[in-house]
Parts: sequence; C-alpha cells; structure tokens
Amino acid sequence: KSVTLSLLQSVANAFDFGGPVLCDAHHYGEGHINDTFVVWREDHSKRFILQRINTDTFTNPVGLMENVCGVTRHLRAKILAEGGDPARETLNVIPTLSGSTYYLDADGGAWRAYDFVEDTICLQQVGSETDFRTVAETLGKFQNQLEDYPASTLHETIARFHDTPNRYANFEKALAADALSRAKNITSEIEFIHAREQDCHVLLDQLAAGEIPLRVTHNDTKINNVLIDAATGKGICVIDLDTVMPGLSAYDFGDSIRTGANDCAEDEPDQSKVHFDLHLYEVFAKGYLSTAGASMSMAEKKSLAWGARLMTLECGIRFLTDYLEGDHYFHIARPDHNLDRARTQFTLVRQMEEVFDQMLEIVCPDNR
Ligand code: ADP
Ligand code: MG
Ligand code: MG
Repeated sequence: KSVTLSLLQSVANAFDFGGPVLCDAHHYGEGHINDTFVVWREDHSKRFILQRINTDTFTNPVGLMENVCGVTRHLRAKILAEGGDPARETLNVIPTLSGSTYYLDADGGAWRAYDFVEDTICLQQVGSETDFRTVAETLGKFQNQLEDYPASTLHETIARFHDTPNRYANFEKALAADALSRAKNITSEIEFIHAREQDCHVLLDQLAAGEIPLRVTHNDTKINNVLIDAATGKGICVIDLDTVMPGLSAYDFGDSIRTGANDCAEDEPDQSKVHFDLHLYEVFAKGYLSTAGASMSMAEKKSLAWGARLMTLECGIRFLTDYLEGDHYFHIARPDHNLDRARTQFTLVRQMEEVFDQMLEIVCPDNR
C-alpha cells in the first residue's frame, strides 16, 4: 500500500505539531514493519516521525498505542527522577489536534507521530564489541526502568508471540498436514525439533512456578531499535515499541543474542559459516546485567541463558513451519529460503548447547 504526498500531508495536518508542517513522501530509515516518514515544521525548527502502523501485523492499533503511551509515560517519570532528558531518552507521542494518540485515515490506515530524536546513530549491524555492549546496557536500563510497571495490564499486540510450546504445536500441525509434501526433505530437522520438545517448556514452566517474574518486554531487541548518541557513543533511546507486551526478560535477552552474537546472516545457506560467538554473548551479558542485574534473582539470571537457546530454537521452528506450509509468512527470495533460515538457527542452537554450562556461568557466576 503506497502513500501519496497528498495523503501524507492530510494525515500530518491532523497532528498537533505546534504549527504547519511539510512532508516528504520518501520512506525514512530501514524498518521493515511500519511505513515511516519524516515531517518538518515549515520554519524548519523541528522535525517529527510520522508512521503508518502495519495493521496486518498489529490488528489492534488502539491497544498498541495504549501500551506505547503507558510505557513511555512511566519511562519519562523515571528518566526525570534520574536527572535524565526525557525528550531524548524515550519516545514522545505527539497527539492529534483532537487529543487522540493516533489518527485513522479514510482508508482505515492507523497513524501516529513521535518527536524525532536528533543527533543519534541507528546501527544496522553489530560493528564492534563496544556497540554491542552499548546496546546491551541500553536494553538492560529499559528493562530496569520498567521493573515496577504492571506488565499484566499491557495488551498482547501479537497473540502468543513467544509461547514456545504453542509454536511447537503449530509445527506439529504443519508436519501432520504436510501440504506440499516437503516433510521428506527435512527428516533430520524434524528429529532435531522432536528431541527438544521438553526444552520448549522450560521458561513458561519457571514462570508458572513463580520462579521468574512476568516483565514488560520489548520483543524486537535488534540493534537498529536502539538509538546511540552521535557525539558520545552512549545508548540514548529504545525505539520501536509496537511489540511491547507482557513477557520474560529471557525473551529480550535471548533475541538479542540470537541476532547479535554471531557473524552470519540469518539465512546463511552454508552451515560451516555459522558460528555462535560465546565471547560476544559474554560482552552482551555483562552489559545487560550491569544495568538490569540489580533487579534480578539468581533464577532469572539463569533464565537468560535459556532465553538465548529457546528464542533461537523457536525462531528455527517458525521458519521450518513456514517452509512446510508453503512460505506464506516470511518473505522468501529463493526456494528453500526458509529451510536455510531454519538450519542456521538450529546450528546456532546446537553450538549453544555445547557451551551451555559456560553460558550459565557467565550470567550467574558461582550461582550468585
Ligand atoms: P519498524 O517497526 O518498521 O522497524 P521503527 O519504529 O523501528 O519501525 O522505525 C524505523 C526507523 O525509523 C528506525 O530504525 C529509526 O531509524 C527511525 N526512527 C523511528 N523512530 C524514530 C525517532 N523517534 N527518532 C529518530 N528516528 C526514528
Ligand atoms: Mg525497528
Ligand atoms: Mg518494529
């Protein structure tokens, strides 16, 4: 669905930008989910982010904006109390002229606006250990600032997002149906998943037993969702709050490790090039715990190592499920693309399992 300049301008005119704004119909940034644009005040004194929410993915934009407003209000109070600058250290929602947090256009598109966080860098890949550490500290701080937010009041913007046993069950359904007769190509991958059925329950069992807490989680903790101050190199602001929902700290930690603690593409077809990097894991863990660790019990720290394993396993299961069902969820650029993606995740899982004792020791030294 394209966006014309006239649509963009009419949407922009509905928001309270403190004066008339000029639009640019080119997409801004490298996000893959929403349609992101920049609008400038006519006098060029200030710019803003204007986004059309992807309502194919997020079917309840109203609940989503309630989450974003609730969480950013809480963060703003924390940042103020800590002597920080709330204008840069959290997203700030700009209301519409009629006082709403979102705007619906004539085609049913749902839009929202934020202050533009200026003088920052948005990294697309882990370039250095320092960057990875910075991202870890910033995500840990985000987790810590939301420690006392009532997580259960948040809407689940994508139902059962990290319900790993449910992902496993969906895989079993796709396998039983075997709609494209592809199961015969993946016997070793099927065996790999079946051998790990019990693993899928580890984190949710710990939650059910009260051993680890329900938390506010971000659920898209990729490096390009953390803005870094261009002048100081410090982490400034966690953005992209669409998937904020109740969850486990292990989910966010685990997904950062899955995407960042290796030097291969997510869809690397050559498995000999896939390496889980225990050193990068340690760099991230130390950064994350330096800001989030104070509020975590021993059990929760240990759950982080499980998060790395399970988020990677779960992601592989999802890729393989889509492969069995005919590649209609993840966009593919070649045949077997989802199979390559799944294999890469499973290679990482296998390597994590080999060093799992060390992974536990790193997040929970001497069980302290
Ligand atoms: P998506 O879900 O599509 O990834 P994001 O909310 O992450 O959407 O926005 C896409 C990109 O736009 C970000 O990666 C970042 O470069 C930029 N961006 C988003 N919000 C802001 C903001 N408030 N200030 C500056 N840049 C932003
Ligand atoms: Mg993003
Ligand atoms: Mg997003």
